[in-house]
Amino acid sequence: MRSASTSVPIASPATHAPAAMPASTRSRPTDPATRAAAARPTPGGATAPDADTSRWDAVLRRDASRDGTFVYAVRTTGVYCRPSCASRPARRENVRFFDAPEAAVAAGFRACRRCRPDAPPLAERHRALVLDACAALERSESGIALDALAAAAGLTPRHFHRVFKATVGVSPKAYFAALRTRRAHAALQATPRVTDAIYDAGFGSSSRFYGEAGHALGMSPSAFRAGGAGQRIRWTVEPCALGTVLVAATERGVCAIEFGDAPQALAERLRARFPQATLVDGNPAFREWVGRVLAFVERPREALDLPLDVRGTAFQRLVWEALRTIPRGRTASYAEVARAIGHPEAARAVAAACASNTVAVAIPCHRVVRGDGSPSGYRWGAARKVELLRREREAGDDGDA
Ligand SMILES: [Zn+2]
Repeated sequence: MRSASTSVPIASPATHAPAAMPASTRSRPTDPATRAAAARPTPGGATAPDADTSRWDAVLRRDASRDGTFVYAVRTTGVYCRPSCASRPARRENVRFFDAPEAAVAAGFRACRRCRPDAPPLAERHRALVLDACAALERSESGIALDALAAAAGLTPRHFHRVFKATVGVSPKAYFAALRTRRAHAALQATPRVTDAIYDAGFGSSSRFYGEAGHALGMSPSAFRAGGAGQRIRWTVEPCALGTVLVAATERGVCAIEFGDAPQALAERLRARFPQATLVDGNPAFREWVGRVLAFVERPREALDLPLDVRGTAFQRLVWEALRTIPRGRTASYAEVARAIGHPEAARAVAAACASNTVAVAIPCHRVVRGDGSPSGYRWGAARKVELLRREREAGDDGDA
């Protein structure tokens, strides 16, 4: 991609001046050089004049979409390039085309060091660089500065940041934060002592762990160890207007509201999420929460304001908080939510955060729709999303909101 190469410092678009080329080469396919090439077909992959004209045009436009379909070699420098190479273009009469790098090499040309025509295409190279960076972050204890990551990849920090984000979906910093949270989860499952888990995960002190991971996990670390061991989770499965609903809660608040069809499948899903927790029947306070969920699904007249005990990354929680501000009966697009939380570029991450919500309706991810207003996906089925929105609009029309 041309835009990708122009931010590499060595690739200066200013040196590329198509106007410096004879204007005729673009519009007259039968210029002398092309006719000469046609008259002297060269072995080793050199091609027919019509194809050459199109290829030369691609070179003048630095058309990255043609990368990988041919290379061009310059007699005067002995170098061959990709069509998208940012080097100062050669004169047409000095250029030869080859179908493949090997053919250019066989004809005595060497690969340009700027566009690396002998290496995989730019997108693949970028992906490899990003994978290397991810691996380095996975090995690191306390993260790696953007400058260092970029230097290792041979890109400017700004360019590297853009490439990383385009490939992974989040910035290197956010990626490392997620890694550390995941490590904390894994370490808590495997390590007998919570303090060991904290240091294993690369958090400098336990207070920092409780500040970051404690918030991210939504349960105190001791309780989260071993799939909720020591945690009592009250739960029930009830028929509702949308099929079946499972409601579950810790001492701190509701941790699951999930729709489904088969009660058994919902119960199994809860057990898989908290394999070590003690699942117990609901007490009266819990029954009251369940009653509010059922009433909301039946006729969503007011906000479902339940205490929640949900686990999520800082970003997910930010999204979930934002969703709770969308008024009942209204919708917002993923892009609007992304803008509302100050990350306008993160619409896809917002969609992912909506999809990982485990407390249906209490965190109203059903109110987030595509930019064109169409419902898009829902963790518990698009039909339920449409029905919830219909019920909210209908309840709003009652005038007793
Ligand atoms: Zn080149």
